[in-house]
Amino acid sequence: MTELKSLRCPCGFEVRSRDEDELVRMTQLHAKSSHGQEITTEQAKALIQAVA
Ligand SMILES: [Zn+2]
Repeated sequence: MTELKSLRCPCGFEVRSRDEDELVRMTQLHAKSSHGQEITTEQAKALIQAVA
């Protein structure tokens, strides 16, 4: 079974999924819509943490 992962933006936005690609996509969408920033896949992945 895949680990549940969480990604938290400094603004307080948080997304949880077992699908890392989905986390990355949602984070990129959030960064663009809420912060007007384009972030790379690497930047998004750097924010991902495993949820215990
Ligand atoms: Zn944010």
